[in-house]
Amino acid sequence: MATASPLSSEEIIQLFQQYVIPNYGRYPVALTRGEGSHVWDAEGNRYLDFFPGWGCNLLGHCPAPVVKAVQDQVAKLIHVPNTWYTEAQGRWAEILSRRSFGGQAFFCNSGAEANEAAIKLVRLHTPKDRYKIITFEGGFHGRTMGSISATAQPKYHEGLNPLLAGFVYAPYGDLEAVEALIDEETAAVMIEPIQGEGGVRIPPDGFLAGLRRLADEHNLLLVFDEVQTGCGRTGDWFAYQHFGVTPDVMTVAKSICGGVAGAAMLTTAEIAPSLRPGMHASTFGGNPLAAAAGIAAFEMIEAEGLLENTRKISDVFRSRLEALSAECEIVQEVRIVGVMIGVELSIEGAPIVKECMDRRLLINCTHKTVLRLLPAMNLTVEQANEGCDILAEVLKSQTAQ
Ligand SMILES: *Cc1c(COP(=O)(O)O)cnc(C)c1O
Repeated sequence: MATASPLSSEEIIQLFQQYVIPNYGRYPVALTRGEGSHVWDAEGNRYLDFFPGWGCNLLGHCPAPVVKAVQDQVAKLIHVPNTWYTEAQGRWAEILSRRSFGGQAFFCNSGAEANEAAIKLVRLHTPKDRYKIITFEGGFHGRTMGSISATAQPKYHEGLNPLLAGFVYAPYGDLEAVEALIDEETAAVMIEPIQGEGGVRIPPDGFLAGLRRLADEHNLLLVFDEVQTGCGRTGDWFAYQHFGVTPDVMTVAKSICGGVAGAAMLTTAEIAPSLRPGMHASTFGGNPLAAAAGIAAFEMIEAEGLLENTRKISDVFRSRLEALSAECEIVQEVRIVGVMIGVELSIEGAPIVKECMDRRLLINCTHKTVLRLLPAMNLTVEQANEGCDILAEVLKSQTAQ
């Protein structure tokens, strides 16, 4: 039995080398257990995790109310198809609607799938001759053929042409460029309110409001990809609330179920019927397990005051990282909204990530030079400081070299 004789990291890695397609770069560590903002490897080493679950574990590892909800649900009903009604899916949709713009939900299992649903909704809702969607350089919308076509980053397209037609790319933050791209075939503008994978890029003041105005003037749908920014990450339920600009369509995934796989596309009750019966589906979408986890995650955020905690933790990171930026010349810029944090360096970030891991702190690097932290909403002030101490030590040792 695995529990009687657990495998070492090395033995687990050997299984992967033989049996798992090597399409990921992995750290040479096998993780076995997590609790809150800590995670343990097969050798029993404990890490402080500032990037839990690549943004999916926004409530930390194994949040107790989510674990309990899944345990209760799994013994009752694991999956039934969407030819039936379930209380769990109905209540989950209500929870999302009441905390966002009051619309309706389509459920699926991943961010890319939610964006596929949004792309299809755009094409179905707008007149036949309007099909173009404007997306943004540096954006990221997922790995399916549709969502990579929406992703305006050539490195993700290499070897995969031809892409899905109909996407036009605008420079991020450039409203005039967007306006110039709009023609009679344009159907929608699709954007991450804060670019995540693109380096935690926060939109210039007025940019999202400008997109809303252009969408209204030209009768376009405004689609926000909140896969990374949504569900509490910014200290509001959704980033659009932080910026005060409401989209027509919104996609959410990653943290929506407290670490369990799940996703949704939300839209207004007026637009929703365009996704007609038979035009779109997801076999596992909105299944009772994901729904139970999703309900529990949102209830936990409310019961434990985690939106407030997010803002508190965010202030700790801001003051610690800005102080570090003043002291440390390789830190170019610090970008923070809630617990979505980017630290732009003048050097490559990968060695910093490695050095932090050696000191048992887990962080991420994106776009070569941006350290990205997506810590849990229930991180404590002590844990935030502990991790910032390690990061400061590592960054200062680089400067000294
Ligand atoms: C991660 C991510 C996606 C893709 O989500 P998957 O669940 O991996 O398909 C899409 N959009 C954004 C903004 C993301 O951060």
